[in-house]
Amino acid sequence: MVFLIFMMMLPTYTNQTIPNQAQRPLEQLINAFARLPGVGPKTAQRYAFFVLKQPPEIAQLIASAITTAKTEVKSCRICHHWSHQDPCEICENPKRNALQLCVVESQQDVFALERTQTFTGKYHVLGGLIAPLDGVGPDQLNTRTLLERLPLNTADESLIIEVILALPPSTEGDTTSLYLSRILKPLGVKVSRIAYGLPVGGDLDYADQLTLTRALDGRTSF
Ligand SMILES: [Zn+2]
Repeated sequence: MVFLIFMMMLPTYTNQTIPNQAQRPLEQLINAFARLPGVGPKTAQRYAFFVLKQPPEIAQLIASAITTAKTEVKSCRICHHWSHQDPCEICENPKRNALQLCVVESQQDVFALERTQTFTGKYHVLGGLIAPLDGVGPDQLNTRTLLERLPLNTADESLIIEVILALPPSTEGDTTSLYLSRILKPLGVKVSRIAYGLPVGGDLDYADQLTLTRALDGRTSF
């Protein structure tokens, strides 16, 4: 009995937690990959083994690409999209239609819409959606900078005349769209929301280019 209790007090080690000095760097690499979204322990292990099988220069390329991107890619001070320059290329591009502003949840959505090559206006990344149950209100999102971009008077020739809400058709997306339409409409801008062709609960990032193009074309006024 005493022996049994003694055995139970000993730490138990699985394959992942063997306290072996030589295995630590490999475990560190697996744990680092496991931090990526959608990557479970097995996939993390596969990634780590892939890296180890590569020539040193490939591993160096991956490592330096991560470090360089993390150092040089910043959030644009105007639209909050990621770019190596601030303001970003889209905000700085005089050929973009300054009359239309497309509001999206995340930077990935900007990439998704840019892939369609149909939207020529500018963007504003909210950085999330209103989710009261998770404690996310309008103040936690980039709503203040959105309002700052809108004209204060209709005499301004460079004014934004339409705000397109390209938010996902989910409860949070609906709540955020409704909130934004209520604060934007009194400013005299046309507020529309993409709807056509997007599955309910679907993410913009996963929609194919044609679906997104149709969703933009079929936007409805608020
Ligand atoms: Zn920008």
